[in-house]
Amino acid sequence: MIAIPTLETDVLVCGAGIAGLTAARTAQEAGARVVVLEKGPETGGSSAVSAGIVWTARDLAGWLSVQPGGDPTLGKAQVTTYPEAIEWLRSQHVRLEPFEFGASGWNPPFPYAAFQLEPKADGRSNPRAAMDRLTANIAKAGGRILTETAIREFHQDAAGRIIGVEARGPSGLLRISAKATVMATGGFQGNPELRARYFGPYSDRMVLRANPYSTGEAFQAAQAVGAGTAGPFGRFYGHRVVAPPAVVDFPSFPRVHLGGALPGAILVNLRGERYVDESESDEVSVHALPHQPDALGVMIYSESDAATDIGSAALETVRSVGTEILEAPSLDSLAERMSSHWGIARVPLLDTLAAYNAAAAAADATMLAIPRAGDLHPLTQPPFYAIRFLPGITVTYGGVRIDAFARVLDSTGRPLGGLYAAGADAGGIYTRGYAGGLSMGLAFGRIAGREAAASAVSP
Ligand SMILES: Cc1cc2nc3c(=O)[nH]c(=O)nc-3n(C[C@H](O)[C@H](O)[C@H](O)COP(=O)(O)OP(=O)(O)OC[C@H]3O[C@@H](n4cnc5c(N)ncnc54)[C@H](O)[C@@H]3O)c2cc1C
Repeated sequence: MIAIPTLETDVLVCGAGIAGLTAARTAQEAGARVVVLEKGPETGGSSAVSAGIVWTARDLAGWLSVQPGGDPTLGKAQVTTYPEAIEWLRSQHVRLEPFEFGASGWNPPFPYAAFQLEPKADGRSNPRAAMDRLTANIAKAGGRILTETAIREFHQDAAGRIIGVEARGPSGLLRISAKATVMATGGFQGNPELRARYFGPYSDRMVLRANPYSTGEAFQAAQAVGAGTAGPFGRFYGHRVVAPPAVVDFPSFPRVHLGGALPGAILVNLRGERYVDESESDEVSVHALPHQPDALGVMIYSESDAATDIGSAALETVRSVGTEILEAPSLDSLAERMSSHWGIARVPLLDTLAAYNAAAAAADATMLAIPRAGDLHPLTQPPFYAIRFLPGITVTYGGVRIDAFARVLDSTGRPLGGLYAAGADAGGIYTRGYAGGLSMGLAFGRIAGREAAASAVSP
């Protein structure tokens, strides 16, 4: 029988996106020996293919304004450690420039602080360069980084403390014993079976706009050794993504989504019914979409949106990836075309349009079956247009339960011992709205790395 090779370290980090790389480098700086496992062929994860804006709320009040019922201790941990974490990233020779979202697209609905990772001459970020820098720093300080190596299960001692993992690498199974372990594998959005469990009957139609490796092995393995979970599991960070025949993949994901740029538009499902308050921002209203038939939505807008600077810029990027846009001189003929081309129920759609325009003309949102809190503009200026879209998922919001020290808790709220989580693996941080994914990974990566090292190297 061939023995399974075994490694030994102080701190083991599973996952090498911003959360894992930050945790690993932080633990090293605190004196710990570090091993990093990365399932993909290279480090960086979704962090490396993101738009590279590290941002979050300036204070807890802003953070809580989009997280109803959210845990203030986690929010506070994120927003209060963020400024130090940005300075720390600079100390790693990662270039960060202040960033304004500006009027040309989506803006956070609260005062925010934002920085762009490694801005290039064309104005875009280079998050890959930032992740490569962190990776090089870890390697230079003696850290071992094992790519194409995925955690499969956690090992416990008799007291239940996590003392290492079993992983699968290119040469087969591998055991790593560690005094402390950080899970930072980026959530479970790449796992269609888990998506079906949490996001509803049409979740198979969700478009993955993230790295393909985050399939929830660590999440499931942690539950198997007693980790508690924290939701909301039905919510996620994502955007509307234009439907085929449009081809939307990397690197077009950060640019091409039907964000909140068309304030006069309405959204309907295959039944021709409005299904959500369109004035909610895109990353919140998208949560309702996997529950609609075939997870399909249609955005209907008029020339008054299309002709604005914001509208025309957004539509130009959408057109550039081959999106099918139906156009018609009247709402009647648009409904006819939507029915014959896409199978949208015509008569209910006409009822929906009439009811919407009546409510908008009366400036009375209470006339609508599905409320609309803002932007109640009638659809009256021809031509009229329609675009189909699907829910795009970037990261899950549900995950293992943690406290403000990034310790993984069991279902009774007690630390499991020896296990920490950071980034998208940590559940219960965002409950509804979104306040930055990179900042969440960075802030909790710092906390997890520091705490894991303290528990591993303390006498
Ligand atoms: C197109 C796009 C644009 C975005 N733009 C922004 C933005 O501008 N600002 C912002 O704040 N957020 C943005 N985000 C979201 C942000 O990128 C994520 O929230 C963040 O990167 C999550 O960091 P993480 O470290 O938790 O996960 P990741 O960066 O995904 O890292 C997780 C790593 O774990 C690895 N892994 C998975 N399973 C295993 C396993 N079993 N064993 C070992 N390793 C494993 C994965 O391969 C991956 O490398 C964007 C995301 C995308 C996809």
